[in-house]
Amino acid sequence: MSKSVLVINCGSSSIKFALLLEDQKFRIHGLAENLGTPEARIKGVTVGNEPVDIHIPNADHKEALEVGLSRLANYKPDAIGHRVVHGGNITKAELITPEIIEKIREATPLAPLHNPAHLIGIEATQRLFPDLPQVAVFDTAFHQTMPSHAYRYALPKFLYTEHGVRRYGFHGTSHAYVSDRGSELAGSFRQGGWLTAHLGNGSSTCAIWNGESVDTSMGLTPLEGVVMGTRSGDVDPSIHSFLANNLGWDIYKIDKMLNSQSGLLGLSDLSNDMRTLIEASEQGNEDATLAIEVFCYRLAKSLAGLSCGLPEINGLFFTGGIGENSAYIREKTLNYLPHFGFKLSKEKNNELKRGTEGRIDQGTGPQIWVVPTDEEGRIAQETKHVAFHEFENNDATTQAIESV
Ligand code: AMP
Repeated sequence: MSKSVLVINCGSSSIKFALLLEDQKFRIHGLAENLGTPEARIKGVTVGNEPVDIHIPNADHKEALEVGLSRLANYKPDAIGHRVVHGGNITKAELITPEIIEKIREATPLAPLHNPAHLIGIEATQRLFPDLPQVAVFDTAFHQTMPSHAYRYALPKFLYTEHGVRRYGFHGTSHAYVSDRGSELAGSFRQGGWLTAHLGNGSSTCAIWNGESVDTSMGLTPLEGVVMGTRSGDVDPSIHSFLANNLGWDIYKIDKMLNSQSGLLGLSDLSNDMRTLIEASEQGNEDATLAIEVFCYRLAKSLAGLSCGLPEINGLFFTGGIGENSAYIREKTLNYLPHFGFKLSKEKNNELKRGTEGRIDQGTGPQIWVVPTDEEGRIAQETKHVAFHEFENNDATTQAIESV
């Protein structure tokens, strides 16, 4: 019989968790937040679809998971899959062992906010479920197939060889899922060249050749690349010395500005939320209009740049909150790519809403698809594969995971 998997995405004071029951279609979601403070609470929906909001003052990660699972589902999972942002040079999902924990710890300088929080989550679930297999699924792993000319920066060699300074890429679980699913829908599973645009609060693009990542927009950290909700994406690195010399800013202030006060929020001075900006733009807000324009232009520029990694382009997949929902952003972005032969069907583009997958081109030129991402589902499948060598069925995604 198929197994159920608890998927954990652990932050320093929060845990997003999802229990995917046997056939993966039935899921229970929970969010524990403000952990370690008097305001700690768990929100979620039970198996019976009842909303739950439980106050758990000062609870830690372990206690929150214990309470959450017993109140939401009363199920014991068969395995646990942890989303881990940075795996350094690890190339695939791995069973969590002391060696893997050490590798996650070693990658901490590259993801100082995320990896320590993941380790707290792993420790908590190991104490809670000492007998269950636990698997780490890394955001960076899918991009380990990038060639060195795509992942190296033009910086002194020792920074790479001694300190691991290179491009790693992120959102790998999403790009892997979407390109597998999309190419399967297109009838050319893991064949040819595809571009993916994962557009959410964090956004990134990826070039995939025969099912493998050959380049991506994010780099050493998830700051590089396209414009995001609050992250700047690419800027001239001399901005650091400019701000330090002229405004007296220290490195922490500059880092915070680039990560949390920039992107759509910085440009619009209004919001990091694309829906809000589209509404404001419709009402004549010029800053919102500009923020949307910069977002689409730079996204198109990124996709055009990544196309250099592909011998040919079969098509483009849109995903993420913005990519799945906004026909407006999809159309605007494609208008900035006039040389690639994309022929958007306005009618099909306007029909697609969240959760729907479908093709939105006119049937000539490179294909254009909307493919809702499923990072949880992919993490659960990779977890089952690593823990039990189990496949749900014989479909494309499972074949892909086998060969990751
Ligand atoms: P995610 O991080 O993938 O959940 O995506 C969040 C982003 O998706 C936010 O910027 C939302 O404003 C955006 N979003 C969700 N629905 C829509 C929509 N109908 N139109 C435009 N943006 C949307």
